[in-house]
Amino acid sequence: MNISLESLRPCLDGAIPAVVATASPDGTPNVAYASQVHYVDPEHVALSFQFFSKTRENVLAHPYAQVQVIEPKSFRHFRLKVHYLRTETSGPLFEYMKAQLAGIAARTGMAKVFALRGADVYRVLDIENVDPRLLPAPAPPDALLKLRGTLDHLGACDDLAGLADRALAALAQGFGIRHALLAMLDESGGTLYTLVYGPVIAASVDPIEKKPIYHLYPGSESYSIAAVGCNFRCSFCQNHEISQMPREEGRIAGREMTPREVANGAISSSSKSISYTYTEPTIFFEFAHDTARLAREKGLKNIFVTNGFMTEEALEAASPWLDAANVDLKSFRDDFYKHHCGARLEPVLDTLRGMKKRGIWVEVTTLVIPTLNDDEGELREIAAFIRSLGDEVPWHVSRFFPRYRTQNLLPTPVKTIDRALEIGRQAGLKHVYSGNVPGGESDNTYCSQCKNLLIGRQGYTIRQYNLAGSKCNHCGTTLAGVFS
Ligand code: SF4
Repeated sequence: MNISLESLRPCLDGAIPAVVATASPDGTPNVAYASQVHYVDPEHVALSFQFFSKTRENVLAHPYAQVQVIEPKSFRHFRLKVHYLRTETSGPLFEYMKAQLAGIAARTGMAKVFALRGADVYRVLDIENVDPRLLPAPAPPDALLKLRGTLDHLGACDDLAGLADRALAALAQGFGIRHALLAMLDESGGTLYTLVYGPVIAASVDPIEKKPIYHLYPGSESYSIAAVGCNFRCSFCQNHEISQMPREEGRIAGREMTPREVANGAISSSSKSISYTYTEPTIFFEFAHDTARLAREKGLKNIFVTNGFMTEEALEAASPWLDAANVDLKSFRDDFYKHHCGARLEPVLDTLRGMKKRGIWVEVTTLVIPTLNDDEGELREIAAFIRSLGDEVPWHVSRFFPRYRTQNLLPTPVKTIDRALEIGRQAGLKHVYSGNVPGGESDNTYCSQCKNLLIGRQGYTIRQYNLAGSKCNHCGTTLAGVFS
């Protein structure tokens, strides 16, 4: 061999998966990825054996294979001709590869899928440097931009036929691909795997008023966590760096935490609740689910800060442990949801109705954005809808500041917020609050009966508290919410 296996060790670190080509006895080729190509000694490598696959079947019948590995810095390709010798199912080599695979599986949320059955040991017969002229042409420099444009187009589709047409047109126009195979989910055997069970991108202790939740344990701390990702792509997103990270950067980041660590973090910080917030909690629903059930056992409340775009099934699954939610009602126009969020209005309204029906404490937030959703008629429709849920449902009307893809807009004038508050009161809502308007009286909670100041707030701080349990200490009227 002109090239030593020793010199290829950077290719065997697992940074780029290797490709294994085998052939069945009748010569039919098969190409598959290999999770690991492990350096054993100067003449041998070991490949992970995870599944009873075609690769496995072929190699047992015909022990010769070719393995293509890639040097992650220079991107040079090498082809190894190998001869299968044996499979080890115990011992140091097997244990090492098993631990490596478990690490990969934990990072990718595939722990139940990736399991090592054996370490297949091969003798390396030859190593070739693959002539770069034989490799596919590199992607054009603007490929990512074109891909992003394509995804934006696809996101605007609302039916399957339109989606297929647009996908094919975008492939042809953007990438010169004239023939494509569209894969459809086979529901009978389909299984989805979450990639965000464990990597926590943000974990901090916030005042519960910051969520905003004003009627559940006012003045308490809420242990707040998030994973990256969102099912919306709001052009005005305040947290787009993390909510759009998987979509825009193609990566998932975060510190690995277990549900127990989150629950313990809440207890040790003296928080009374855990908030699943900053991004969209339904994206990390499985992690929230396991965390919330533990939290319940420890006497903590669970809060979703959500865009409300979830199925009835998800809501039903959450209802045993979900105590409260702040739901964004971003607009009362389906067009707004389509064009500015890549979503739809009606499912959000259904979620709000479903939460009320299930006895979950609900507060609603609307970010009022100049020219996009600040029309008085629309604000009236939002207020009327919230009123239909119950006059005790708090409405937080928030001031917008330019962010992300809405840098061209001006901040919301305070008088627009004041007008929205007035519209809320006229609709019969007992509790309307302003957001992002420091120092206003509209941060306070008043008794709906005698107008006594019940909870005086300054920013996120409670300055006055005139409740006895959940009752006004002046006239005894009950304030809706969770206070003891
Ligand atoms: S729903 Fe919230 S987190 Fe998701 S993109 Fe919209 S504003 Fe950002």
